[in-house]
Amino acid sequence: MQKNLALVAHDHKKPDLIRWAQAHKEILAKHHLVATGTTGGLLADALALPVFRYKSGPLGGDQQIGALIAEGKLDALFFFWDPLNPAPHDPDVKALLRLCSVWNVPVACNESSADLIISSPRFEDPGYQRAIPEY
Ligand code: PGA
Repeated sequence: MQKNLALVAHDHKKPDLIRWAQAHKEILAKHHLVATGTTGGLLADALALPVFRYKSGPLGGDQQIGALIAEGKLDALFFFWDPLNPAPHDPDVKALLRLCSVWNVPVACNESSADLIISSPRFEDPGYQRAIPEY
């Protein structure tokens, strides 16, 4: 079953995300990919796959992806945020991560977590349905 996957990387983490995505291109190609603006452009070029691009993160892209989560339209987030450099949109970063917890959306904030999520037998198991909290 095709999933909606979001990929986002802060500037210093973009090379890591691109390399990771290339290594997992075969799986990513089966799904619908969305990204923040700059990340999405780099991914589309590197993977030669369609990637829907929202606005750049600092211009609201993180919030657009957060809106997808709130609407129940995102299945996983691969978010390589940068722990060593301040971001002007830090409140948006926190908000995005918060919504993943609110709605129990799988989120990988680093490469090893991304590896484990994408290689999990449950990732592509149509019988696995993550619990969606009722509030
Ligand atoms: P970008 O945004 O892909 O447009 O660089 C990512 C971010 O900073 O959240």
